[in-house]
Amino acid sequence: MVVYNPPYKDYEFLFHEVFDVVGISQSLGMEEIDSEFIQMMMEGYGEHCKEVLLPLNQIGDEEGLLFENGEVIMPSGFKEAYREGIDTGWYGAMSKPEHGGMGLPHYMGAMMNEFSIATNMSISVASGLATGVYHLISTHAEESLVDHYATNVGTKEWAGTMCLTEPHAGTDLGIIRSKALPQDDGSYLVSGTKIFISFGDHDLTKNIVHMVLAKAPDSPEGTKGISLFLVPKYLPKEWQSGGVGGLSQELSSTRNGVTCSGVEEKMGIHASPTCVLNFDNSVGWLVGDLNNGMALMFEMMNGARLDSGIMGLSLGEVAYQNSLEWVRERRQGRDLRGVQDPQEVADNILVHPDVRRMLLISKVNNEGCRALGIWVATLLDLLKSEDEKERDRATALVALLTPIVKAHFTDLGCETIDTCMQVMGGAGYCTEYGVEQFYRDVRISKIWEGTNGIQALDLAGRKITENLGRNLRYFMWPLVEFVEENRGIEGMEEFNKPLHQGAKGLQQLTLLMITEGMGNPHFLAAGATDYLRYFANIALAYMWAKMARVCLDNPDSKFHQAKLASARVFFKRIFPETISLAASIQSGHKHLMEYPAEMM
Ligand SMILES: Cc1cc2nc3c(=O)[nH]c(=O)nc-3n(C[C@H](O)[C@H](O)[C@H](O)COP(=O)(O)OP(=O)(O)OC[C@H]3O[C@@H](n4cnc5c(N)ncnc54)[C@H](O)[C@@H]3O)c2cc1C
Repeated sequence: MVVYNPPYKDYEFLFHEVFDVVGISQSLGMEEIDSEFIQMMMEGYGEHCKEVLLPLNQIGDEEGLLFENGEVIMPSGFKEAYREGIDTGWYGAMSKPEHGGMGLPHYMGAMMNEFSIATNMSISVASGLATGVYHLISTHAEESLVDHYATNVGTKEWAGTMCLTEPHAGTDLGIIRSKALPQDDGSYLVSGTKIFISFGDHDLTKNIVHMVLAKAPDSPEGTKGISLFLVPKYLPKEWQSGGVGGLSQELSSTRNGVTCSGVEEKMGIHASPTCVLNFDNSVGWLVGDLNNGMALMFEMMNGARLDSGIMGLSLGEVAYQNSLEWVRERRQGRDLRGVQDPQEVADNILVHPDVRRMLLISKVNNEGCRALGIWVATLLDLLKSEDEKERDRATALVALLTPIVKAHFTDLGCETIDTCMQVMGGAGYCTEYGVEQFYRDVRISKIWEGTNGIQALDLAGRKITENLGRNLRYFMWPLVEFVEENRGIEGMEEFNKPLHQGAKGLQQLTLLMITEGMGNPHFLAAGATDYLRYFANIALAYMWAKMARVCLDNPDSKFHQAKLASARVFFKRIFPETISLAASIQSGHKHLMEYPAEMM
């Protein structure tokens, strides 16, 4: 049976000892948020996920989805579980109070995401999508649409989707063919085929609100000519009488022209329907300005990129917990330095350095990503700061760190689960322990929301040079300051020194990428993935050094001493990969691009 214990202690440490999230919330005027409130919400949601979502995870994987008469039917228990998430207020907690939510800060949202994804990734995709759609509607839609949709989507009573991909247009959205024809009453008729649409149809909610990218007549070519439309599965009641203004919250039984013509068979997340949607003169309304659809969809996608990163962390964590549980019972072989348990036929496999290597790298990957994820979440909160400089810093860092969180966390999630499976030998490959499901489920997180290769190009080709390198400066300044402040502090040298060297390396590699990349974009593109991984290692090293600094002041606490030991594992076992990454970046592009394509 799969076990899961939400990592409460780690969150308490990060929230209160490393990042002072209460102080951040108070500075933003959220006076009601204190450590008791955070604790209550954390434990309440953790228990909800354990009790309601976890028991359905394997059922969803095994039962999968039913597709009958153009309708998707979710696996047993999913509808009831989703209802409970809505009724208890958990699913809407991030939405604004005026839309039925609690307006919780992002760092709590990140924590809640980890718990729900770890216990049931499929169902979490549904609520995550609705959160993104809610953001777009509440921020960019006109008033009548906000009136009709914001509360329904914000509370998750109605679901949401993001409809970008078409059969011939995945990464390259500039070539989409979906069209939107303006009508006299201000609405549009949207037509086209979208594929791979997550939760494109299902029976969890009464209505589904699709956010669709399409082109209006006479729009410019490419991404500059794409607009965003809100297209509901069921039309509002007023629609029948021909009006669009002041849409009420009432739903008609009139189906819009959106049909689901198929559901993909796929490797993992079997309870997350991946649909082909046909829009056939579907009634829709423009969201935001005409031809500004890509910019708006990127807002939703940036949120989804951070959520994807958390998928890597969440499934890495639950895989680690289950492999450790199994390891504690497993006896094979003897300690190379002498028998540990002579009364037993064999020693526990934790005596083997290789098993410890695998487990500890997995644990440390998870803990490092959790810290970096919470840092980014606090920055998202600080985007609302009244202090312009603070907002500026947060904007720059979120832009810089989003592709890193998306790509590196999901890469590490896949690696961690692979390692946890290896730790368990044949048992890891079998269904009973759940790790093989996590392995299949997590894999999509490297592909959707822009593949990890595209994240690397975004970082190396755009984010580091953007605003004359301002994003990078906001990252480097406090890091260099931290290194200086901690120079000579007893116990910090083993963390501070590699961080300093790594940061200097990052500056040199960045310069190389920019100067060589200007002369030949293939150089930059060939090194981008390794550059992102190098950068991620520096960001994680910064997190680990910060955490180590806190722990050095707590020599009598077992938790803090274990965290210090984790920091050592990071710097000694994981961080040295920066040396080979640097060599790989410096090797350039010629050995790839001059390889004869016909011989590949
Ligand atoms: C389970 C699942 C759920 C999904 N959910 C949704 C959803 O809800 N909504 C939605 O709109 N889409 C969704 N997608 C689609 C997903 O976002 C795309 O699959 C993804 O963006 C990649 O596009 P593609 O599959 O067309 O691959 P392609 O774009 O054909 O890419 C193929 C390869 O080429 C690389 N590549 C492409 N262009 C470049 C370039 N310019 N430079 C360097 N490398 C490049 C890619 O990195 C990749 O390795 C989903 C997909 C799946 C499988």
